[in-house]
Amino acid sequence: MTRYSIFSLARNALTGHKNWPQAWRSPEPKPEYDVIIIGAGGHGLGTAYYLAKNHGITNIAVLEKGWLGGGNTGRNTTIVRANYERTENELFYEHSLKLWETMSQDLNFNVMFSQRGVINLAHSDAQVDAFQRRGNAMILNGSDAMLLNPAEIKARAPHLDCSADARFPIKGGLLQPRGGTARHDGVAWGYARAADARGVDIIQNCEVTGLDISNGQITGVQTTRGAIKAKKVGIAVAGHTGHLATMAGMRLPIESHVLQAMVSEPVKPCLDTVITSGAVHCYISQSDKGELVMGGDLDFYNSYAQRGNFPRIEDVVSSVITMFPSFSRLRLMRTWGGVMDMSMDGSPIISKTPTKGFYINGGWCYGGFKATPGSAWVFAHTIANDEPHELNGQYRLERFQQGHMIDEHGAGPTPGAH
Ligand SMILES: Cc1cc2nc3c(=O)[nH]c(=O)nc-3n(C[C@H](O)[C@H](O)[C@H](O)COP(=O)(O)OP(=O)(O)OC[C@H]3O[C@@H](n4cnc5c(N)ncnc54)[C@H](O)[C@@H]3O)c2cc1C
Repeated sequence: MTRYSIFSLARNALTGHKNWPQAWRSPEPKPEYDVIIIGAGGHGLGTAYYLAKNHGITNIAVLEKGWLGGGNTGRNTTIVRANYERTENELFYEHSLKLWETMSQDLNFNVMFSQRGVINLAHSDAQVDAFQRRGNAMILNGSDAMLLNPAEIKARAPHLDCSADARFPIKGGLLQPRGGTARHDGVAWGYARAADARGVDIIQNCEVTGLDISNGQITGVQTTRGAIKAKKVGIAVAGHTGHLATMAGMRLPIESHVLQAMVSEPVKPCLDTVITSGAVHCYISQSDKGELVMGGDLDFYNSYAQRGNFPRIEDVVSSVITMFPSFSRLRLMRTWGGVMDMSMDGSPIISKTPTKGFYINGGWCYGGFKATPGSAWVFAHTIANDEPHELNGQYRLERFQQGHMIDEHGAGPTPGAH
């Protein structure tokens, strides 16, 4: 609420909310654009914004089959962190974290970025050693990290069972103090408004059904609202990356899976940091509305459905209440699912493709929300220059053919998580 006073809020409430200015336009598609971005999640909208802001390209359309932010951007558990051991990953995610720190000011939209810290729990001495190594690597790469002992963890999360006879004994934890959470759909709205203000056309209810390619060069897209020509096309469609790539004749090393999340009823503030446990397979934080936000592992079957099944919900909730026994008194309020594009090495793809003018941003697995600004920044660079930015050269598509995997499975909230 940076542009409107409390008085305008009251005035609009009393006049039936009919006089708010539009945050972005709803234009008809033009016959041709310089760049089309497919997918109006945070990555797609952010890419359009940085193409306009950093590269001066404004004749852009973002095409969205549903409503903007209705994909994984509006479905995630909002954890933002940069706690990787591999240098190439850490430099990329640290760049992203820095952009998070200035995002609200840059977009003039409060994305409620809250640096409440992210703690990865260690349940064995070996895990403490591994976290020490990772923390040192993070610091060497210019990020922040602290190794906590059990007493320090207990002081930050008093409801966590840190007792000696806990079902999952807590031996320590790796804290990234600058990590935290953000308002996920606010990120989509902020980028949408800022991109629209720079002339970008955001076209919702417009599904891309085909790609036009002639002599190895992209020439446009087929959509449910007709054909649109374009010199360059980038996709940022999360769980549908494999599907869109098939339209260009490519078979990607990606699988689509369901990931669920859930929230408790809202309660007074009781957890002011993010707690994750890879060994126990769960993570938890408290939203600004007071709900406890929880997640765990994939449902582990391929699907394009934005919903999951009860066994995973039961698994996550039982893990959480084993670690936080007093939370067993809360009721579960809501659950939902999103479609994840799981890459084979757990790292994303931000890359040119064999089709000239066609670019891919995907393979984000469990962790693409935190990457949103960094990913959009380097994807815009890649599209504008037809060359990768120095931070995303390693995420090229050919790495799967050449064997240059960036395998950092295990650096996420759950063991398989990215
Ligand atoms: C339950 C859950 C919890 C998660 N928790 C975290 C977390 O805590 N931290 C974290 O960093 N990440 C998390 N993630 C991952 C993160 O949400 C995603 O990686 C990220 O939001 C992807 O953003 P995006 O913009 O690429 O995709 P999306 O937001 O999914 O946007 C893609 C858009 O493309 C559109 N689209 C698809 N096909 C077409 C087509 N043919 N034509 C036009 N439009 C199309 C879709 O409708 C969608 O709106 C989580 C994901 C889920 C599901």
